[in-house]
Amino acid sequence: MRTLDDLDVESKRVLVRVDFNVPLDEERNITDDARIQAALPTLRELREKGAAKLILLAHLGRPKGRDEKFSLRPAAERLSELLDVEVALGELDDVPGADVVMIENVRFFEGETKNSSELAERYAALADVYVNDAFGAAHRAHASTEGVAHLLPSAAGRLLEREITTLNGILEDPKRPLVAVVGGAKVTDKIGVLEAFLERADTVLIGGAMCFPFFKAQGHDVGSSLCEEEGIEPARQVMDDAKLELPTDLVAGREFKADTEVRDLDEVDVPDGWMGLDVGPGTAERYTATIAAAGTVFWNGPMGAFELEPFAAGTKAVAEAMAATDATTVVGGGDSAAALAQFGLADRVDHLSTGGGASLELIEGKELPGVKALT
Ligand code: ADP
Ligand code: MG
Repeated sequence: MRTLDDLDVESKRVLVRVDFNVPLDEERNITDDARIQAALPTLRELREKGAAKLILLAHLGRPKGRDEKFSLRPAAERLSELLDVEVALGELDDVPGADVVMIENVRFFEGETKNSSELAERYAALADVYVNDAFGAAHRAHASTEGVAHLLPSAAGRLLEREITTLNGILEDPKRPLVAVVGGAKVTDKIGVLEAFLERADTVLIGGAMCFPFFKAQGHDVGSSLCEEEGIEPARQVMDDAKLELPTDLVAGREFKADTEVRDLDEVDVPDGWMGLDVGPGTAERYTATIAAAGTVFWNGPMGAFELEPFAAGTKAVAEAMAATDATTVVGGGDSAAALAQFGLADRVDHLSTGGGASLELIEGKELPGVKALT
């Protein structure tokens, strides 16, 4: 993969695809600017190397056509504060004269998600060289992530480079034992990752709603726990793997609410009318001990409904173990990152991936189109 070390940017207009797909509240204030912060090293390096102009492309949300609610204005304003330069918001056919320009949401343009070559050519016409630093969008073959990369001299930015190097590093040459902690709610999205880690890791710890398809396959009662039907068969296929560890106790609630009735279960059968919403203290202790003894830990997916105070303990225990260990620690997934932030531990892991879907696809061994185009 070509990097900034391979690209001459001096006096060049540089088109930079960034991932500014940040969460916004109802007043359109940015609630977490981590993705904008993560792009700063590349943007600063390009300016230090004498780029004549930076023209940024990014997407925000999933607008259907042009829609002010999805304007990148809040991101442009935040970037302006962080970079301490004026960042002008512009249009494809009306690029402002400023040194740093952000073009409106690429998903406003017909053909972006279809990787239209016509749109890619319009992007390419804006600049002399192209840098892709949007790891979070690298698993999509879109005009701003893939098509345009073939039309200009192109390279990966420092964020994209670090994401790829770190994730490939834990797959190819991890310090052992390699421990994967897999939880969260989107079980079917994560089956591929689970399988990849059963091949490569020494231990795979399961938490979150991920455990219920396994329990169902083993014949346990899951009550009204979140249990994806399509996850049960894949779970059955791998459940006897000796590397796999499942919860041995749970915290259950009546409903997915903070003020619901709560019950500790010292086994994993969930009674009717209850849902398992966290791993229990015995499981948390076992998992944290495994993390403490690891050489490398990859964590994707919270251990429970950490947003609700009564069900946060399992996730908090894992987050604290990640923060405390000397092992190489890598975290993927938006909610896992949010959990770390909630416990004030976001800067205590070695690598917090900015790309949920992209990191999962990379681990599954899939080729990322945005990366391939730079190779
Ligand atoms: P990530 O974004 O880190 O990849 P996911 O999106 O897969 O993680 O899952 C995060 C969500 O999983 C959280 O909102 C959390 O409330 C939910 N969750 C975790 N455990 C459970 C559970 N036992 N039952 C219901 N929801 C759960
Ligand atoms: Mg999520």
